[in-house]
This record gives sequence, C-alpha cells and structure tokens, in this order.
Amino acid sequence: MEQNPIKTTHICSYCKQELPLENFYIRKGKQQPDNYCKECRRIKTLVHKKSKSTSRPKNNAPQRVVITSVLDREERMRLILQARQKVNESIARKKRMVAEAEMKAMDAIDARDG
Ligand SMILES: [Zn+2]
Repeated sequence: MEQNPIKTTHICSYCKQELPLENFYIRKGKQQPDNYCKECRRIKTLVHKKSKSTSRPKNNAPQRVVITSVLDREERMRLILQARQKVNESIARKKRMVAEAEMKAMDAIDARDG
C-alpha cells in the first residue's frame, strides 16, 4: 500500500487540466502547488486587476480621508477633534458676525432716535 505517493501532476481547478507540477507555482510554507496553473493564475490576476480598477475610479475625485474608515483609534480621534474644532471656529465666526451686525443695527437705531 502506497502512502504519500509523490505526485508529479496537479489538476488546475480553473481549466481542469492535469498538468505537470512545473506548470504550477509552489506555495511557500505549505509546499503545495497552487490551485491554478501558472497560465490561469496569470489570467486571473489580470482579470482581478482589471475589475478592481473599473469598480473604483481613481481619476475622478481626489481621495479624501473618511474619518470612519481610519482604523487607528488615535488618528481617528485626532481627525474628529480637528473637524470639530473647525466647526467650532466657523460657528464662533458666525456668532461674532451676527453680534457685530446687531451692534451696528443698534447703533443705527440709536443714531436715528437719539
Ligand atoms: Zn489552468
């Protein structure tokens, strides 16, 4: 009874062809041939790259940092604080402008009445 027969061929799970092992990449560590033969692996990689680039247009919009997609917690906190600070600043600026406008209006009323 043969235990561990040394295989010299491998069946590609993509093209279903039985091919000599030299037509497969050997996965390091496992010392097992790849599921796909070199040719199919190449095709699959090309297809994969293509579909990736079409599903995610690169040139249309500049990449923005989405706060929720930033995984690092400290970095995310920093960005949130930064965003919050900007909002606060603009609110403060608006309030100041409104206050100034009110003051001017009051001045105008004072000048007219007084
Ligand atoms: Zn194949």
